[in-house]
Amino acid sequence: MRRGEHLYAGKAKSVYTTDDPDHLILHFRNDTSAFDGEKTAQLERKGMVNNKFNAFIMQKLEAGGVKTHFERVLSDDESVVKCLDMIPVECVVRNVAAGSICKRLGVHEGIDLDPPTFEFFLKDDARHDPMINEYHIRAFGWASQEEIDEMIAATFRVNELLTRLFADGEMILVDFKLEFGRFHGEILLGDEFTPDGCRIWDAHTREKLDKDRFRRDLGGVVEAYEEVAHRLGVSLG
Ligand code: ADP
Ligand code: UDP
Repeated sequence: MRRGEHLYAGKAKSVYTTDDPDHLILHFRNDTSAFDGEKTAQLERKGMVNNKFNAFIMQKLEAGGVKTHFERVLSDDESVVKCLDMIPVECVVRNVAAGSICKRLGVHEGIDLDPPTFEFFLKDDARHDPMINEYHIRAFGWASQEEIDEMIAATFRVNELLTRLFADGEMILVDFKLEFGRFHGEILLGDEFTPDGCRIWDAHTREKLDKDRFRRDLGGVVEAYEEVAHRLGVSLG
């Protein structure tokens, strides 16, 4: 399968058509960004690590009953996925308080959240991805109630599966963001699951092993992603 037309360049991935209208190629680039694109950098090996990391996780999720867009790895930094009609919302589950919830609610980083919380954000960098709720999603026609219910259920199922997977590697899945889309009448998990879109801490030292290393200038960003991959048994070749 070959890259066709360049459809879209996001902050970290590029999307290409293929000879099959139902499939796209996602190219995981070495670009990284934070704070809605205000801080950017190029990190050697990140595209390859994230492509293989994402493939591993998507396959685990499929095996656990979550329907995803993932088809197959095409090259070191490219994968073939189903072409989705993306729903412009981000689904965030938190097991431990960190990031924006601490600022928003004035709570300390590291507090366990029981039950885990669920939040929707509008995917709109220019407006700094504002937090929204189900009423906004329905009122503005971004998704139906049935689709909302499916996204919430799938996101919690992902949390159940991945909390366990990361715990087996002596890590805490602090929080994560998912995006969904429509494919021939079904809601599928799209985009990616990599350390760019979640928080992962070492279970014992609580050392940050995710994109917070980039956000906070802690260094060793890709090395931390590789450490997580190694602990999960992801083969980076
Ligand atoms: P961003 O748009 O947030 O800067 P990326 O650099 O990751 O993010 O760009 C990837 C883009 O591709 C995102 O807009 C994402 O919603 C979109 N996308 C991801 N998976 C699919 C898919 N299966 N079909 C169509 N679009 C997708
Ligand atoms: N996240 C993401 N993309 C976004 C916003 C958030 O991948 O546009 C992820 C982020 O990496 C974290 C989780 O979603 O794992 C919750 O993010 P938060 O709301 O705390 O925002 P942040 O402070 O990380 O911007």
